[in-house]
Amino acid sequence: MSDSFDVIVIGAGPAGYHAAIRAAQLGLNTACIDKSLGKDGKPAYGGTCLNWGCIPSKALLDASHKYAEARDHFADVGIGVSGLSLDVPRMIAHKDQVVSKLTGGIAGLFKANGVTGLPGTGKLLANRQVEYRPHEGEGRMLQAAHVILAPGSVPVSIPPAPIDDELIVDSTGALEFQSVPERLGVIGAGVIGLELGSVWNRLGSQVVVLEALEDFLPMADQRIARDALKLFQGQGLDIRLGTRVMGAKKKGGAVEVSYQDKEGDHSLTVDKLIVAVGRRPYTEGLLAPDSGVNLDERGFLFVNDRCVTDAPGVYAVGDVVRGPMLAHKGMEEGIMVAERIAGQKPLVNYDTVPSVIYTHPEIAWVGKTEQALKAGGEAYNVGSFPFSVSGRALAANDTEGMVKVLADAKTDRVLGVHVLGPQASELIAEAVIAMEFDACAEDLGLIMFAHPTLSEAVHEAALGVAGHAIHMVNRKRK
Ligand code: FAD
Ligand code: NAD
Repeated sequence: MSDSFDVIVIGAGPAGYHAAIRAAQLGLNTACIDKSLGKDGKPAYGGTCLNWGCIPSKALLDASHKYAEARDHFADVGIGVSGLSLDVPRMIAHKDQVVSKLTGGIAGLFKANGVTGLPGTGKLLANRQVEYRPHEGEGRMLQAAHVILAPGSVPVSIPPAPIDDELIVDSTGALEFQSVPERLGVIGAGVIGLELGSVWNRLGSQVVVLEALEDFLPMADQRIARDALKLFQGQGLDIRLGTRVMGAKKKGGAVEVSYQDKEGDHSLTVDKLIVAVGRRPYTEGLLAPDSGVNLDERGFLFVNDRCVTDAPGVYAVGDVVRGPMLAHKGMEEGIMVAERIAGQKPLVNYDTVPSVIYTHPEIAWVGKTEQALKAGGEAYNVGSFPFSVSGRALAANDTEGMVKVLADAKTDRVLGVHVLGPQASELIAEAVIAMEFDACAEDLGLIMFAHPTLSEAVHEAALGVAGHAIHMVNRKRK
């Protein structure tokens, strides 16, 4: 094998493997180094997303949703279930099968596209030299015309609750419980806390979520966040806002968590504790002192809007650079960089990165929130539509939530779309497309949507911006 490449990518998470495959498609001689090992100890491409993130969490979210539906809601539509049972090890095994199918799929895609997959560790030296250390055997020096850094992120830990991978776990450990903890504590009511808290709550845990902030989901539209909080509390998630965790002591096979809120000191005993307080960029061992790549003040690799670092010919993409830590944001950055190396001129539109929280109902949004528009003094109109009057949602017995469309008061351009409801993760795609093409709310209202579908709620909310929604009484009629 040659030691010289057009492109070397370090990290085969979604950002890195998209960069590598696209570069190879464009005819560039590409290698991708990744050090992740699967549960079987073998190299497993796909990074956090495939191994310990998006995919395994969704496997457990979907499985636990099916179980909770059968237990709690099948009877509503005349389906009786007797002898419903839960096999947690089988559920975890299904999740593992999905993961290994997909990680194996990336290895297959590397082969098919001519990417040289190099399992092991990569370190960037000066002048785009890369030191490659395989898991076994001798290391060697590689040279590239271009290097793309995609090392991803790792969970943040907090001193009062150190991870022991047994009773106190991070998100990775929370995907591996072999039985349902009777009492489950979660620190952090962010995306991971809500998704994994929901999984175990659905399967029968009593879940208490301790959140430092007074506000619930401050990054989401506050109307949507308020409604979601009520729904999650109704499902049994005991979400305690404005708390400060002071300690977590292991005692007789359980964990005693001490925390404070404005009413004073409290303690809580749980069988497992999940710490989900955010993730940080991972750069350990990645850069030699003379690599020329700089970090910003928060430890992210410093890049411009085209993901170019301070070192000539070196790029960085994904969770390790500024912006939301989302797989699809990293994927688009990886593709942009590969195409720019090949002489094309794409850009990533950071204004239309969709966010999704895969609870039930799901929460999804793109663009600005109403509170951000207010804070910025921007004049806007709102249209909203509740799923409680959507024919398809009623037919599916899944009517919680709403769609909210925010449009510029003068131009009618769509500024933000917020969905709390069934299939919100799928519905948001049409809002992203609308915003990418600079659509107005009226455009969304003029487009024909299939009936009966949940997407009609987006149509109706868009019509509602001008007071034209058909299936609800409009306050402003035109
Ligand atoms: P990563 O996926 O972290 O991959 C980086 C890879 O680089 C890893 O394999 C790592 O081992 C390797 N690496 C690091 N340093 C080196 C080195 N020096 N040499 C060789 N290899 C190296 N995002 C979503 O968009 N949707 C979701 O539903 C979602 N769910 C999530 C659920 C959970 C529980 C978690 C933890 C995260 C979730 N995320 C989700 C976030 C998503 O996983 C990340 O945004 C995404 O994986 C980041 O991709 P990346 O390629 O930048 O890095
Ligand atoms: P997060 O930033 O979403 O939430 C962390 C929460 O913990 C915040 O609400 C924060 O206020 C709280 N917190 C921080 N310190 C605390 C403390 N000491 N005590 C109590 N609360 C505390 O982070 P996360 O949930 O860990 O997720 C990490 C990243 O992974 C996110 O950036 C997210 O983008 C990504 N992710 C995405 C998805 C998805 O797209 N569906 C799913 C999971 C993870």
